[in-house]
Amino acid sequence: MSKALVCTCEDVTVTDVEHAIERGYHDVESVKRYTGFGTGICQGKSCHSAVAALLQRKAQALKPEAVVPFTPRPPLYPTELRLLASAPVDESVPPMGGVPQELEHFPSALRPAGPVPQKAKVVIIGGGIMGLSLAYNLALRGETDVVVLERGYLCAGASGRNGGGVRMQWGTPALIELAKRSIDLMKGFARDLGVNVWLRQGGYLFLAKRKDTAYRLERNAVLHNKYGVPTRIITPDAARDIVPGLTLKDCVTAAYNPEDGVIFPWAFLWGYAQGCVKRGVKVETYTNVLGFETSNGQVRKVKTDRGDIACDTVVLASGAWSPQVAKLADVTLPNEPHRHEILSTEPLKPFLSPLVSVLDTGLYFSQSMRGEIVGGMGDPKEPSGPNMGSTLRFVARFARALTEQLPHVGQVKVLRQWGGLYDVTPDNNPILGRTPGLDNLLQLSGFVGHGFMMAPAVAERMAQWMTSGASDDLFTRFSLRRFEEGTLEREDMIIG
Ligand SMILES: Cc1cc2nc3c(=O)[nH]c(=O)nc-3n(C[C@H](O)[C@H](O)[C@H](O)COP(=O)(O)OP(=O)(O)OC[C@H]3O[C@@H](n4cnc5c(N)ncnc54)[C@H](O)[C@@H]3O)c2cc1C
Repeated sequence: MSKALVCTCEDVTVTDVEHAIERGYHDVESVKRYTGFGTGICQGKSCHSAVAALLQRKAQALKPEAVVPFTPRPPLYPTELRLLASAPVDESVPPMGGVPQELEHFPSALRPAGPVPQKAKVVIIGGGIMGLSLAYNLALRGETDVVVLERGYLCAGASGRNGGGVRMQWGTPALIELAKRSIDLMKGFARDLGVNVWLRQGGYLFLAKRKDTAYRLERNAVLHNKYGVPTRIITPDAARDIVPGLTLKDCVTAAYNPEDGVIFPWAFLWGYAQGCVKRGVKVETYTNVLGFETSNGQVRKVKTDRGDIACDTVVLASGAWSPQVAKLADVTLPNEPHRHEILSTEPLKPFLSPLVSVLDTGLYFSQSMRGEIVGGMGDPKEPSGPNMGSTLRFVARFARALTEQLPHVGQVKVLRQWGGLYDVTPDNNPILGRTPGLDNLLQLSGFVGHGFMMAPAVAERMAQWMTSGASDDLFTRFSLRRFEEGTLEREDMIIG
C-alpha cells in the first residue's frame, strides 16, 4: 500500500489509483471519476501523466494506445466568477461551437478484445442511468440474461454530466409520483447497493420573477400538496432566511420543498453497474451498436462492432442519441438533443442548503457534498444538435446571473465547465414502451433534463412491466404513439 500522492489537489494516492484499476476502471476518464484525480485546482496538469503511467503499468492487458488523456475542461486556470461575468455576450445570436470537441467515437484500442455474447434475452442499448437501472431491476426480478451495450465509458452520456438535482416539484401527477418513489429508493441505495450516493435533502427553492411563473409555482404547489409533497409558497423574505445572502430583486414569489435534494451522479451510476455485474448481467463498455436485423415486425439481432447478438427484447436507452440509434431500425423518434452547459467551482465551506433555481431564466445552483458550487443555465438561443462543447458565453451568462443572486460569491473561482445533452421531447415527457411496427423494441428515452431523478422509479416499473406482463398505464401514457394520436400532457416545470 502506497500513500504516495498522485494528485495533491484531491489527496489521491497511488493506492487509490491501483484500487480503481483493480475494480476494473481501465481508462483515464473512469479512473478520474472514480478517484477524483484531476478534478481539483490544477485540473490534472500535475497528475495526469502519473496516472497514465500507473495505468499503463498496472492494467496489464491495456494497449499503450488505449491510455488516452481525459477530456480537458475550460477554463485553463481557475477564474473568478466576477471576471467571467464581465465577458461580453451577444444575446441576440445563438451560441456557436464550443471546446473541446467531444468524442463521438471512442478509441478502438479501448474496445474489449473478445466478441459480445451471441445471444441474450434482453439487450439494452446505452449504459447511462436508464439502461443500468433497468438492467439492475430486471436482475432483481430474476432476469439476468441481460446485456448492456455502451459505446464509451459508463459516465460518457448525460448521466455523467448532470447536476444531480432530485426533486418532487413537478407539474404533472405522473412525474410527481415517479420522483417521490425515486427519492424513497435513493434513501435505501447505500443499504441495497452498497454505494453511498451522497443524497442530501437540502430542498429545492424555486424563485419566480414573472407573474406567469409565480402562477405556475402556486398552481403546482397545490398539486404537490395533494400528492403528499410538502411544497410551500413563501415570500422572498422567507426565501432569504433559507439562503442567507440571496438577493431577491424582482422576485415575486418562491416555492420551497425541504424534501428535495441533490445526489452524486457518478456513484449512483456505478452502484447500479456493480449491482448488475454482481447478479450476472453483462455490461459491455466501448461497444458500439451499428445496426439491427429485423424481420416480421421484430428485432432479431443487434449488430455491434464486436459482433451480433440475437435477442428476444431490445431496449433503446441511448439518451439523446436514441433517435440516431432508432434510425438504424428505420424508426423515427421525435426527441432532439439540446446542449446544456454546467460548471463547478472551487470548494467552499457549507453555506447553501437547497438547490436554488430562478425558473424564469433557467439559472440553477447548488452546493455539492465536496463544497463546490455546481450550476447551469439554459440558453434560449441554443439550437438543437449533439454539440457538447463548452463556451465562454455560457460561463459569462451564468456568472452574471449567479452573482446577481448571490453577490458574495463573486471572488469564487470556476474550476471546470462542461456540456451535456438534454434529450428533449415535444411535451417534455419520456418515451416509454413498445414501438409501433417493431413490437420487441422497447423505448426508454426522452428524459429531457430530469432523467437522473426519474431512473430508480421508472426502471422499477419497467422491469415489473417487462417481467410480469401486467399492464401499466405509464407505458401507454408515455408511448411513442401519443405523438401520432396527439394525446400529449405537457410538463412545465423544466429548468433551462
Ligand atoms: C447539464 C445537465 C444537467 C442535468 N441535470 C439533471 C439533474 O439535476 N437531475 C436530473 O435528474 N437529471 C439531470 N439531467 C438529465 C439527466 O442527466 C438525463 O436525463 C439522464 O442522465 C439520461 O440518462 P440516459 O441513460 O437516458 O442517457 P445517457 O446517460 O446519455 O446514456 C445514454 C448512453 O447511450 C450511449 N450510446 C449512444 N449511442 C450508442 C450506441 N450506438 N451504442 C451503444 N451505446 C450508445 C451513450 O454513450 C450514453 O452513455 C441533466 C442533464 C444535463 C446534460
